[in-house]
Amino acid sequence: MALKVIKRYRVQDLEPGMVLGRTLLNEKGQVIMDQGKVILQEGTVISRELIDRLRNWNICVVDVQFLLPPPIQGQAAEKQERPVSVTALAADMLERMSGQTVLSALLDRLTRGLGLLYPGDHVFISLLDGSPQRWWVIAAAGSFRLPDVALEQKFRGQDYLSGQTVMIAELSAHKAPPVLARADMLSMCGVPIIAGDMTVGCIELFSQRPDAFSEEDTKAICLCASKAAVAIRNARICDELRQTAEERDLLYEIMGFVSASMPPVQLLSKVADSLANYLSAHAVAAFTVQRLPHLHKTTEVMMRNFTRTDMENLKDIFVERWPPAITNGEPETNGRLLERQRAFTVNVSGGKSIYVLPLFSRDLLQGIIVLLWEYDRKIDFHRHMEDMIRIVSDQTAMGLERHHLYTGVEKIGLTDELTGLSNRRMFNYLIEREINRSRRYRRPLSLVMIDIDHFKKINDTWGHPVGDLVLRQLGALMRENFRRLDVPVRYGGEEFAVILPETSLEEAIHFAERFRVTVEKAAFINGRERIPVTISLGVATVGNSPVAEDMDADALLQMADKALYQAKQSGRNRIAAGRNG
Ligand code: GH3
Ligand code: MG
Ligand code: MG
Repeated sequence: MALKVIKRYRVQDLEPGMVLGRTLLNEKGQVIMDQGKVILQEGTVISRELIDRLRNWNICVVDVQFLLPPPIQGQAAEKQERPVSVTALAADMLERMSGQTVLSALLDRLTRGLGLLYPGDHVFISLLDGSPQRWWVIAAAGSFRLPDVALEQKFRGQDYLSGQTVMIAELSAHKAPPVLARADMLSMCGVPIIAGDMTVGCIELFSQRPDAFSEEDTKAICLCASKAAVAIRNARICDELRQTAEERDLLYEIMGFVSASMPPVQLLSKVADSLANYLSAHAVAAFTVQRLPHLHKTTEVMMRNFTRTDMENLKDIFVERWPPAITNGEPETNGRLLERQRAFTVNVSGGKSIYVLPLFSRDLLQGIIVLLWEYDRKIDFHRHMEDMIRIVSDQTAMGLERHHLYTGVEKIGLTDELTGLSNRRMFNYLIEREINRSRRYRRPLSLVMIDIDHFKKINDTWGHPVGDLVLRQLGALMRENFRRLDVPVRYGGEEFAVILPETSLEEAIHFAERFRVTVEKAAFINGRERIPVTISLGVATVGNSPVAEDMDADALLQMADKALYQAKQSGRNRIAAGRNG
């Protein structure tokens, strides 16, 4: 096939994606060598790096040719070069097509070339891509825009799919799309781009002249299409290689984060950030989730391009209530939702799509990453990409879990060793949290303080180890005799407390009295001897009266303590209730 010199380019005019038509010469017409080798020769694709190198070598003129079919009937010779139109649409599409910039530049060049061969006519190159497949207009030279359409909506699309060339001398005689009529297009010529056995796109030329294209023209455009097919195949192979390399880099990066034993906030924000960049997401958010018996905590770790309201909604819908009860009627999504450990995609208003990636380690939700695209991205991840994302999420979840286990060690610092109950530190945290909740939702919250009567005497009579045994048994009794929601605590020494959420003063008095009787009747045995143990209890409640509303944790504690003191004063083995004022 003949090569056609389009232009003598200067280095500053080169663009990535151009193809060298012949060995590069310097200004003096010498072949450019590097360490005895001709380095730039026919077929070399100009890259950004190459342009930079050429600049360093101080070359100001190079011959760059573009591969084109032979000019038809000498008409190309008279053609003037026209300004090239790369529509914003094409640019947008390029981005969508996962940055196949080299391919798109090639197709763009091809379009320009055809534009030169057929001045006044309109050239479009469309590629079939996505899932479901659409015809994306990827390069265009012309004054109107051909829209992207669904697979079955393409004008003469069936012909292209079956490998047929289309020649229409009078468009008005066919049911052509309105956009062509509006642009006064009268005739057209279209050829499929076929890679392997599959139609992967098409090249279309439209003209305002009737019967503008000949058999010859069709052949020429077919040649272009075969060039395009090679370029597309190469680009796709390159893209896959690039992707594999990028994936490997991403994996290494994330393994690095995990093995560096970063704290969860740092680990998760780094992973979320890398993933968002890798998948070209427009917005990203990440949360850690911790689920302990008395601690159900969601922590917002990072956000980019989400608003505060978005974050609240995301947290509410996806994180707090996992698995989320969301479907958008798509079988695929529904199917995925059933497997609650799997990632899934949701389409939201405005044509956007959200990808939710839960991070599970040994069946425990450790965190969630949410990605958003501004368009309807039917995430048709390649299989290997899905595998890769799974590895990333598993690794990250393990990293998070390991850290939470460390904090589990810290949890020992929140538990009383002798009784296994929560200790005073945990009590302080919990009572603060419960008071806030009670005040926010105006719900009652009660606190019972418990002190063993004459415990000193028990120690003195049976010895300290037996005293310990009594404490341990009392702890067990507390665990057994309060409700699941109630939190028994060893406050210190022989003093205990119980936090009773959602409990009025009356109910708390009832539970306290019942427990007092239980202890009184319980068999605290040392060998064959029964140790008589009784307790005194002080009860206090917040949230029952208007006065109580501004009561804080300290005030509640004081009130319960005061009541306990009263119970002791009035004879022990009894309860007293603290009242406001
Ligand atoms: P009251 O009825 O007024 O509460 O009298 P009490 O003897 O129970 O109260 P007091 O505060 O005088 O004594 C508490 C005793 O509890 C003193 C302390 O040695 C004992 N004690 C505190 N912690 C432990 C512990 O972990 N194990 C044992 N065996 N005894 C403890
Ligand atoms: Mg005491
Ligand atoms: Mg005591």
